Amino acid sequence: MKLAVLNGDRAAIVTDTVIYDVTDFLPTRAGRHGGPWLPWLEQGGTVAELQQLDLTACPQQPLKNTRLGAPLSRPGKIIAAPVNYLDHKEEMAEQKTIAEYGVFLKANSSVIGPGDEIELPYTDKRTDQEGELAIVIGRTARNVGAEEALDYVFGYTGLLDITVRSTEDRSTRKSFDTFSPMGPWIVTADEVGDADSLSLQCWVDDELRQDTNTSELIFGIAELVSYASSVMTLHPGDVIATGTPAGVGPLTDGSKVRLTIEKIGALEVQTTARTAIGYADRPGARHQVHALPRQ
Ligand code: MN
Repeated sequence: MKLAVLNGDRAAIVTDTVIYDVTDFLPTRAGRHGGPWLPWLEQGGTVAELQQLDLTACPQQPLKNTRLGAPLSRPGKIIAAPVNYLDHKEEMAEQKTIAEYGVFLKANSSVIGPGDEIELPYTDKRTDQEGELAIVIGRTARNVGAEEALDYVFGYTGLLDITVRSTEDRSTRKSFDTFSPMGPWIVTADEVGDADSLSLQCWVDDELRQDTNTSELIFGIAELVSYASSVMTLHPGDVIATGTPAGVGPLTDGSKVRLTIEKIGALEVQTTARTAIGYADRPGARHQVHALPRQ
């Protein structure tokens, strides 16, 4: 099943052509915090529960031309994988992979949905797209082994891990507001099947920049969930971005970014430099060692 968000706070289920508003039919009451699906997941919502819904009784409209929100507008946390594809390791001239770096966190306030705008923060620092498959956790997980890790996965979605190429730690460079476009919906794990063999492409305008298969992941889905759960407790509705393949590159004002993942769908967003400032004009820049005038 495909779980989407309609009009900001309505829980919806999507088929190929129709979107059904199931908000008033969910056995657990949806809330506003984090969008309608987060409290539902936190209250133990399951696919079986959704399968019992009578969709024909729900308000419905054609999916075409429907503007959707992020499936989880403010997840509990967004965990992300650095250097989890070998070809990205090579393009970044990295010496290490996720096995050495571990995972990092992106602010949960950085999420936007389909059709929203990525706000480029700086006029003179490169900001890149990173197309990624993301995991949505369904059950509380702590120290789970890889062999049982998939039992804790509720579903999958697309995520763009937008990144400034500057000197700050990853959590800063990847946590600006609007830096985690997510969607277009969550596809439940049963419908996706083997998430370690999904084709993934990312376009910027008409340029195909990234083209891979999740079979190339260094830490596959189960190993990544197992590893993350060895560091921190995973809660229902937490999101894990699995990492990006080669082909990251700069975004400019007015770029269109499109991420497509097999069995998931297409996520499209735009960029704007409307609020961009000079890097040297950011708060605190005067303390930067390299900005000091030469003696
Ligand atoms: Mn990334």
